[in-house]
Amino acid sequence: METILKEKIQLGISACMFGCKVRYNKKGWNMADLFGREQTYFTWHPVCPETMSGMGIPRSPIRVVGDSGADVLTKNAVIKNREGKDVTESLLAGCNSCMDTLKRAGVYAYVYMEGSPSCGVYRTTLKNKRLGKPPGVFGAMLLEEGFFLIPAADLQSPVRRWDWRRRLHAFAWLKEVEINTKNDLFEMWHIIKFLCQEIDEIKAREIGKKIAESPKGFDRDFTEVIRNEALLILRKPSSLEKIKNRLWKHYIFLKRNTNEEIENIMEPTDMRNMNHIADELIMMERKSLEAGILFGAAPILYKGR
Ligand code: SF4
Repeated sequence: METILKEKIQLGISACMFGCKVRYNKKGWNMADLFGREQTYFTWHPVCPETMSGMGIPRSPIRVVGDSGADVLTKNAVIKNREGKDVTESLLAGCNSCMDTLKRAGVYAYVYMEGSPSCGVYRTTLKNKRLGKPPGVFGAMLLEEGFFLIPAADLQSPVRRWDWRRRLHAFAWLKEVEINTKNDLFEMWHIIKFLCQEIDEIKAREIGKKIAESPKGFDRDFTEVIRNEALLILRKPSSLEKIKNRLWKHYIFLKRNTNEEIENIMEPTDMRNMNHIADELIMMERKSLEAGILFGAAPILYKGR
């Protein structure tokens, strides 16, 4: 099975995180630049539900009046601006317009601005560290549509950024990979199982057991269930501790198979900063690719055409 992505991933992003000054106070930051050269791995689709609602820039900040943005979708909550004006219908129109844009472009992953009553997913208020009433209205739509969600703030950490990137690549690959025989299913699982085990050991072992115990012959429905279960695992972030420990195990495997050492790879207990760990991971990716050996922590790479 080919493990190199040749097509760029279509990636949605809150426009204010893509350098567009579209926030209510005319601010915006470019978080996509943090990807450096890897920025070219994606085609970016910035959208701003509040701007598309016709509220303009600058505008009065808005808030959820009710339990959450999800309740706005079921008409059990409303959105009001600072002056108390009900802007629910306008915001819903803006959210629908942005969702249409993302769907038209084939986008299924989104970098969101946490702390927004529109784009926020787990927090809708940043001020005074209050958590607000998550998710925001657009955040609720993204959750409902099953998007692969990336908090923009995580892009500031080189290791978290690497974690999002490798999981998104594996997610994009798994969504599309053709599985037409039992052997394809075994091979697919062999490719992503190490990554799934790192993220959620229990769920991954369950999947492995189900595949091993499945009856002879190919069953498409069963295969799609397995695919969806693995896609759910890949949506979840890993942790620094797990990444460091697994990196060392993968390195020992690679060293044994190539008889070569990679300078600068450190043991899990060695102290080093996030930049160093991210560099080690990228070195491991390159070395594995050159040697034609599967790097279980980042099994799918993008190389373009
Ligand atoms: S968080 Fe979303 S709605 Fe708010 S300014 Fe950014 S893109 Fe627009």
